[in-house]
Amino acid sequence: MDYERRFQDAINRLKAEERYRIFANLERDASRFPMAMWRPAGEEHSPREVTVWCSNDYLGMGGHKDVIEASVSAARAHGAGAGGTRNISGTHHPIVQLEAELADLHGKPASLVFTSGWVSNLAGISTIASLLPNCVILSDAQNHNSMIEGVRRSGCEKKVWRHNDVDHLEELLAAEPIERCKLVVFESLYSMDGDIAPIAAIVALAERYNAMTYIDEVHAVGIYGPRGGGLSEREGLAHRIDVIEGTLAKGFGSLGGYIAASAAVIDAVRSYAPSFIFTSTMPPSVAASATAAVRHLKRSNAERERHQDMARMVKHALRAAGLPVMDNPSHIVPVFVGDAERCRAASEMLLERHAIYIQPINYPTVAKGTERLRITPTPAHSEAQVADLVESLVDVWTTLGLRFEPAKVIPLRPAAQDPAQCVYPEMRKAAE
Ligand SMILES: *Cc1c(COP(=O)(O)O)cnc(C)c1O
Repeated sequence: MDYERRFQDAINRLKAEERYRIFANLERDASRFPMAMWRPAGEEHSPREVTVWCSNDYLGMGGHKDVIEASVSAARAHGAGAGGTRNISGTHHPIVQLEAELADLHGKPASLVFTSGWVSNLAGISTIASLLPNCVILSDAQNHNSMIEGVRRSGCEKKVWRHNDVDHLEELLAAEPIERCKLVVFESLYSMDGDIAPIAAIVALAERYNAMTYIDEVHAVGIYGPRGGGLSEREGLAHRIDVIEGTLAKGFGSLGGYIAASAAVIDAVRSYAPSFIFTSTMPPSVAASATAAVRHLKRSNAERERHQDMARMVKHALRAAGLPVMDNPSHIVPVFVGDAERCRAASEMLLERHAIYIQPINYPTVAKGTERLRITPTPAHSEAQVADLVESLVDVWTTLGLRFEPAKVIPLRPAAQDPAQCVYPEMRKAAE
């Protein structure tokens, strides 16, 4: 067996399908967010300054002075690492404080922090569902990969409901015996289309059909709600949702993930989840920086207000220029391209010619034929930068002969859980 050859073949298949990912070598400037230095491949010695328009540090909290100060002083005080797993010497005071802060944020009795949002979904969903006898999981068709992995890992029966379609969810719930354990898993804000779930209707159905609810608020925490508690806080529904999951790496600008829930749910996940038990705790500096960001955003609305203003301004300006902005009620600004190669070409031209960085979003993150540029305005972008963005996009659209027409409808992505859409053949097999 020529092992090397097998790997090279696998990479070549991705390249042939325009799915091969090229990472931009970036150095963010904390004092000048959203600016960064970009080092083109082969020219690492001559970095170029670029404006970042696709960061998930939605509010620029990664560069906030209180957040940086918390991180630096915790590293000075406690050292670089945690020194162990949670059970074996790794439960440091900053992570205990962070968990208390997050429980309070969502009005829940307890919370549990993981090393990433991805792990928190894997651990949370799989552990909760597997502790419920004969549980059936009802999963939105557009759920994130980390949730799909959690569902799969639980070993429970799974039923997928059409994206945001509460009638279909009700049909599936009604088909089960009322006494059977059910876990409804969904996101509040879907990050590629920027659409929002009908949370109130989903919660009402779960109550009627005796189901537990698990919501992923990764793209909403810090960003929506009077204290940054996400869309469940904004809509006054947090107390009716059993488990709220979030990340510390997007709106809060740091790293890590968490779930917030009842004391018994949190204690059970803490006690049974291998991806929590058998891994080292995040460093004190990371926990302290996250706590500082959560605390700041509980008190301050200025970032949230300016963020929404900027998103509206960017959408309006791009539409006025005839660019195909995909409509949604959130801070995400997807601009439709509809072809993998041209999407990548547009991104490259923005970077090379206009010093604007927007990573192309291609399959399997979105369905083939719905490739797009996903723009994320932040409170730190200026009106001059918006004007430059519009002018640059118009130049790229003209040069590449892309369509200047409104993206009338959001083209529906085929279900992310459709086996044919899985990234890896072994995943496809597991899904079948
Ligand atoms: C990014 C993301 C995650 C994972 O969070 P990380 O903290 O980046 O691991 C989970 N769910 C959704 C919907 C996401 O977009």
